[in-house]
Amino acid sequence: MTKPVSSSFIGEDTKILEEIKAASADGLVLCFVGVGSAFAKKHAQTSLIVAKNGITLLVDIGTTIPNALAQQNINITDFDYYHITHSHADHIGGMEELLLMSRYVKQQRPKIIITEHYQDLLWEKSLKGGCEYNETGLLRFSDLMEPIRPLWVNSQPREKYKVSIGDMELVIFRTKHIPGNVALWEQAFWSTGLMIDGRVLFTADTRFDEKLFADLNMSGVEAIFHDCQLFSPGVVHASYEELMTLSPDLKSKIHLTHYGDSFEKFNPSADGFQGFAEPWKLYKY
Ligand SMILES: [Zn+2]
Ligand SMILES: [Zn+2]
Repeated sequence: MTKPVSSSFIGEDTKILEEIKAASADGLVLCFVGVGSAFAKKHAQTSLIVAKNGITLLVDIGTTIPNALAQQNINITDFDYYHITHSHADHIGGMEELLLMSRYVKQQRPKIIITEHYQDLLWEKSLKGGCEYNETGLLRFSDLMEPIRPLWVNSQPREKYKVSIGDMELVIFRTKHIPGNVALWEQAFWSTGLMIDGRVLFTADTRFDEKLFADLNMSGVEAIFHDCQLFSPGVVHASYEELMTLSPDLKSKIHLTHYGDSFEKFNPSADGFQGFAEPWKLYKY
């Protein structure tokens, strides 16, 4: 095995990540690496840094994310924890880089928050082809990462899992994303969103699903970061038009994420939303 080099090989100046950690000393901080859709070119794909008391979590690692991080002198291996919401390439396309950089450069397994069920799916259907072979034989997913297992909470009305990292409490819940023709989340392929400290809701990818808000405890939620497709029909995403039909109270908490390049034609704050989520902005709670 090769000798490790500095994990900050891109450059020593990881200023934004240090700023995020410092800002999280007295609370919860969210910062988006990217806010774009799968095919966006003006923004990196939607990926979220969550920090509390200096502990960092990276949620989703799409194909464009290692490069977007590198633009800010952040290495993909620089985070304390990782979490993947589902298996589309705009959420996992950078996973192979994380796993192989961690093994061969940093020589430390990344801590990934993942259920046993999704660990099998992600490995068998997506990552195994590029990651399984190594210098000595065949690797398993658990040779390349340290799974942090969330605890199952309930199956109905919405399947949920919970996990704490440091002082941060995460609830992982199932969403209705793919395929586009199923009526219920129970029939959908594995995709999940996150409730962070009961205060911030991140839907990740979902179709319009008003029942989601009824199925979750929304009483303490201050902000919602919601998937939004700027053209209709939504098919596998929530369209801007559909989100417009939500109550004024919900809309006033919604920052739109996962949006396409035509965003300049829209004025979400005039339409009752908080607005478009912005990359590299620090959201404090
Ligand atoms: Zn996506
Ligand atoms: Zn997706």
